[in-house]
Amino acid sequence: MAITKTVGEYVFGSGSFEQLADLLRPRREIEGAPVVFLLDHFFAGSGLMSRLPAEDDDQILMVDTTDEPTTDSVDGFTLRVRETCDREPAAVVAIGGGSTLDTGKAVSNLLTNPGQAADYQGWDLLRHRGVFKIGVPTISGTGAEASRTCVMLNAEKNIKLGMISEFSIFDQLLLDPDLTSTVPREQFFHTAMDTYIHCVESLGGRFRHPVADSFSKEALRLCRESLLEDDMQSPGSREKLMVASYLGGSAIGNSFVGVVHPVSAGLSMVFHTHHCIGNCIALNGLDEFYPEEAAEFRRMRDVQNIPPPPKVCTGVTEDQLVQLYDATIVHAKPLANALGDRFADILNFDKAASIFRQL
Ligand code: NAD
Ligand code: ZN
Repeated sequence: MAITKTVGEYVFGSGSFEQLADLLRPRREIEGAPVVFLLDHFFAGSGLMSRLPAEDDDQILMVDTTDEPTTDSVDGFTLRVRETCDREPAAVVAIGGGSTLDTGKAVSNLLTNPGQAADYQGWDLLRHRGVFKIGVPTISGTGAEASRTCVMLNAEKNIKLGMISEFSIFDQLLLDPDLTSTVPREQFFHTAMDTYIHCVESLGGRFRHPVADSFSKEALRLCRESLLEDDMQSPGSREKLMVASYLGGSAIGNSFVGVVHPVSAGLSMVFHTHHCIGNCIALNGLDEFYPEEAAEFRRMRDVQNIPPPPKVCTGVTEDQLVQLYDATIVHAKPLANALGDRFADILNFDKAASIFRQL
């Protein structure tokens, strides 16, 4: 049995952002070093930025999340921290969505492990604990705040993979649902759906874990309440979805996703589709494997008045279909979780191509 680790300490609640200074104080006292803040570019010049408990030597780096993190972008941030700070920082604080949280985790790890981001893409490759890291999500759904990975695209190797390690788990979280009030509506929905999809894939799989199941069931209940019975952006729903995201991210450490994520990963490699919208596009075309879930996704979309996801595969070429298939079928563990060991017979090239052509 693998040992499970999750984030041990968190502050939760509306207005809790004001406690960030208190979380940092003991770190500053112990380390006597500056703090590095990584902030989603949406907050440049915002009220939130002016409320950062930054001191004179601290560094504030803006993370452009137009594109998802890459090994190069992570190396770039790490270099900037090293060039400005002659000591190990007292803490790295990542404030934003999955892209910024993952960037913060990766930079924290690289500040104490030699080499480059690409050297650590894979399972348990990091040798040293990273710099103390605090995660502050500003959009709910990916579970990146709770998980033990930080996903990065690597164009050279044509892979999207994280540093999967207990060192990629945040030391502390600050979960303040007020911070999600400014997220644009469609983005909010697509990212929230990531939790729903993690949980239905996990609960529908063959590899099960009673703790993961319980986290997933509660996260699903919260998703359904927020996305089917209320306005998803009401204060109550935003609070529920922040909890759901955390629980869904905690579940994934002990379980696997299913067919949706591999298909979405294919779209991401070939068309650079972002993670959460890619999952929605994939689920919308996977009725054969997830009939009830795809129907529920469309009901949630209708209740929240969200348009259907865009068609990305219109005019897809045979070459692209091969690339899509290769980038999907490589995800053996989730596919075996959903379809069994003979997953490649079920999701063969012809079947996958017919699915992709509709997406
Ligand atoms: P994101 O970080 O990519 O941000 C999406 C958009 O939302 C950006 O334009 C950003 O500026 C904006 N935004 C974020 N917070 C906002 C706010 N409060 N107000 C206004 N705009 C805001 O979003 P995401 O969907 O949370 O993250 C996707 C990333 O997460 C992908 O890179 C994916 O690979 C990664 N991911 C990681 C894990 C993990 O376990 N580490 C799991 C799933 C996905
Ligand atoms: Zn996901």
